Amino acid sequence: MVVATPIGNLGDLSSRAVAALRGADVIVCEDTRRTRALLSHAGVTGKRLVALPAPREASGVAQLVAWLGEGKTVALVSDAGTPAVSDPGARLVSAATCEGYRVEAVPGPSALLAALVVSGLATDRFCFEGFLPRKGAERRARLTSVAAEERTTVLYEAPPRVAATLADLAGACGAGRAVVVARELTKRHEEVWRGSLGEAAALAAAAEPRGEHVIVLAGGPSTEPVDDDRLDTALRQHMSAGMSARDAARVVAEKLAVGRRRAYEAALRLR
Ligand code: SAM
Repeated sequence: MVVATPIGNLGDLSSRAVAALRGADVIVCEDTRRTRALLSHAGVTGKRLVALPAPREASGVAQLVAWLGEGKTVALVSDAGTPAVSDPGARLVSAATCEGYRVEAVPGPSALLAALVVSGLATDRFCFEGFLPRKGAERRARLTSVAAEERTTVLYEAPPRVAATLADLAGACGAGRAVVVARELTKRHEEVWRGSLGEAAALAAAAEPRGEHVIVLAGGPSTEPVDDDRLDTALRQHMSAGMSARDAARVVAEKLAVGRRRAYEAALRLR
């Protein structure tokens, strides 16, 4: 069972997640102290916890398959959110399925989906980049592909690297690209900031961002011809992300390569 756990608000632990944890013979986690605290909040006691942090995940595969072979029920959790998404778990799931065992999901909190759905950016098609490579050619190549991506892109980032990542994204995508920075989701100090990459990078450079962050980036220019529906959708996205009609028209005109006058008139109609 792949069991999602809260990303900051314990109220998000589902009753099905509690039942899965209570029913498990073994709970595989990243950090036993963290998971023990969650279990104690849920009133689940006497469980066998085995820590398998990311660097050791591969070495746990044989043990997992052995447990499953003995008929044990194994629950997999991570420190927060959905396991196997920028967290350990994918290898274990792959090994279990290759051996023919059934793997069930107990869905729940996920920072990427929480940020996406409050972003106000397009959700009909999106892609998830996780953490960008930290440096060098790999990072530059990924930034180039993110800049060319037409779908909304969701990225994770650690607090001390948020400023550098926003600055690099502004360099790669242009300072005018709309972005939403979602911070401390589900927690007391939750904040969802909307604006352009240039503004976001400047704010982050001025004061080091604190807490957990998800960056949700509007898609880049498309190569398809731009009909009125597409123009209106892009304008709505930018205006609902907090931009004025004039700014949205400027950004969208550039993004979709349409005339500024056409974009501005459409933005005024939508306002
Ligand atoms: N598997 C987890 C999930 O899907 O929710 C994510 C684990 S990943 C190691 C941790 C990253 O998720 C953080 O660096 C941050 O980008 C994001 N994150 C986790 N909790 C968050 C929260 N409460 N608010 C905003 N971002 C969060």
